[in-house]
Amino acid sequence: MPKCLAKKRSGGLCQNHAISGRQRCKFHGGMSLKNEFHWNYQGKGYTKEERQRSAEANARIRLLMQMAVDLGMIPKKR
Ligand SMILES: [Zn+2]
Repeated sequence: MPKCLAKKRSGGLCQNHAISGRQRCKFHGGMSLKNEFHWNYQGKGYTKEERQRSAEANARIRLLMQMAVDLGMIPKKR
């Protein structure tokens, strides 16, 4: 099992067991992810095209939902 390579304030390395496949233990960001893999990722790297596509998909879903409501398949929101 690899060891955490983070430096401690007291000098020396952390030496806790690192998260597997990573070089840091759970105390030193071993679990943190980058960019779109990060759970706080806001999608700022979006291209215009991607935004357009998701807007279209949303519009289509809204239309389908409206149709379902009109057909009595799902109850209207109050
Ligand atoms: Zn560590």
